Amino acid sequence: MKVKNKRITVLGMGKSGYGAAKLANHLGARVFVSDKGNEKTTLSNANKLLVKYNIAFETGLHSKNIYDSNLIIVSPGISKNSKVVKDAVKLKIPVISEIEFAFHYTKSPIIAITGSNGKTTTSKILFDMLKNTDIKPVLGGNIGISFSEQVLYEIVKPKKNQIYILEISSFQLEIIKNFKPNIAIFLNISNDHLDRHITMDEYIKMKFRLIENMIEKDIIIYNGDDEILVRGFKNITQDKIKFSIKSQTKHFSLRNGCVLNGKNKNILSENNFSIPGKHNISNFFAAATCAKSLNVSEQKIIRTFKSFEGVQHRLEYVKNINNIKFINDSKATNIDSVITAINTIKEPIILLLGGRNKNSNFRLLLPHIKASLIKLVISYGESGGHIKTVIGDAVRSYSTIDLNSAVKKAHNLAAAGDTILLSPGCASFDQFSNFEERGNHFKNYVKNHI
Ligand code: ADP
Repeated sequence: MKVKNKRITVLGMGKSGYGAAKLANHLGARVFVSDKGNEKTTLSNANKLLVKYNIAFETGLHSKNIYDSNLIIVSPGISKNSKVVKDAVKLKIPVISEIEFAFHYTKSPIIAITGSNGKTTTSKILFDMLKNTDIKPVLGGNIGISFSEQVLYEIVKPKKNQIYILEISSFQLEIIKNFKPNIAIFLNISNDHLDRHITMDEYIKMKFRLIENMIEKDIIIYNGDDEILVRGFKNITQDKIKFSIKSQTKHFSLRNGCVLNGKNKNILSENNFSIPGKHNISNFFAAATCAKSLNVSEQKIIRTFKSFEGVQHRLEYVKNINNIKFINDSKATNIDSVITAINTIKEPIILLLGGRNKNSNFRLLLPHIKASLIKLVISYGESGGHIKTVIGDAVRSYSTIDLNSAVKKAHNLAAAGDTILLSPGCASFDQFSNFEERGNHFKNYVKNHI
């Protein structure tokens, strides 16, 4: 795709839009960036683009200027059904997503990791497995630095044997055309993001777009324990490799608390994984199956099983105060990850739920609340009242105004041996700019005020 001297509009100025603007500018395009928001990061990114690269921008609106272009690149935060995108399509301006744009300028192979939960954790596990081998892994996509910015670094300073590990959300797949990974990993599919994709069918369809351009020699790796994925892949004839923690597969299985390799040799005890939870064993197996396909040694894979440090805001240990443990799982923004968290913790739990509801059905939590070690639920924030109503008399519950008061209340009611778990099941935007800010706030509050 030749963009030299072409007019390119980038919609959105978060991480992806910022990266795409820099890449397009480097390729000689005349770039204009437009973001409807006025948040701190938007303004700071806009300022950097102008001062360092002389890239024009507007914030606080999408003006008519955006349509004066040969190509529009859309950030994942903007839906294909939004008015700006629909109007651009009506005007017959080509519209593509940020990953599609960056894809055209890389010469390196791509591993794409998608799924409702576990993308970041699995991407980082895989990165650990591949680093210090002949392969040079580079993380991108939703994680850390955008794919576009990484591709720009590749153009400026190419590295031998580089391979991208991209964390891909369904939003990024909405407006692709030629994008194609060499290895696609599907972790799981649950009811997340129904606020944007509207129906589950559309959400699943979007996820499967990841493989639409893949060819014979590419590799598909998927979770054989996930019914939706198993059903979805039934009619896809391409070669696929399954991973599973419930049944035997080509490379790894879990039996009676032991990990077995493809030759049925016991290579690790379940207790030796560095982070807790069956869901994480599933993430480890997904990454290890991919590493195996890339000929990484079993020794290196096992070392990562034992030493991986975990990722912040995912069941992250915060502090123990008088034998009351605090855990930060701020990244749990949907019901499925809350269920995962409460099934992983083996002590009596005081669960903090709340924030901005993403149209989730909290009733789905009820059977798990009854079957788990939850002794108390404290809901808070915008959705606090609603969650308390839904929980009814399934377990003792309180609703508080914000996260601080929820933490205080939980601490007042906790007994020695309890775990206070922030696994909110909601987005953070009623009180915070993102889940990281919420998790950091929780950690600081626990460390400094409890
Ligand atoms: P993503 O990047 O897909 O949002 P993360 O690795 O950041 O996933 O994990 C997000 C949340 O999902 C965490 O709170 C974690 O407890 C939960 N989780 C992680 N892996 C899985 C999995 N394989 N299945 C279900 N839940 C998971």
